[in-house]
Amino acid sequence: MTGSDCIFCKIVHGDIPSAKVYEDDKVLAFLDLSQVTKGHTLVIPKKHEENVYELSHDTSSNLFQAVPKIARALKATYGPVGMNILNNNGEEAGQSVFHYHLHLLPRYGKGDGFG
Ligand code: 5GP
Ligand code: ZN
Repeated sequence: MTGSDCIFCKIVHGDIPSAKVYEDDKVLAFLDLSQVTKGHTLVIPKKHEENVYELSHDTSSNLFQAVPKIARALKATYGPVGMNILNNNGEEAGQSVFHYHLHLLPRYGKGDGFG
């Protein structure tokens, strides 16, 4: 899939609306439509790279520098007791959007909808 067919590239360009959690020059974070748990957030590079095998040094560096800031913001906003950070690579591993992304899943204890 090229960037022009990609849902997340459309979100980066503002062609599809999203509930933004964080943005800088290289990284965007927004609420996942599915909200598996309250505050479920996706963190993506603005540059279209499909999966972990394609991720460049600069892209991964920019992305992971933003993650603690986003995690702290989610903790402050939603008050979870824990947080999972997940990434699916390949259809067989559960990847459904082929633009690299991390799931940040705030956790609230047993029965919070995940795991
Ligand atoms: P994956 O299954 O690839 O790891 O995760 C893709 C995620 O993207 C899913 O959790 C799905 O709910 C989310 N998603 C798909 N389309 C959209 C969209 O248009 N907007 C938002 N905010 N999330 C989306
Ligand atoms: Zn893309």
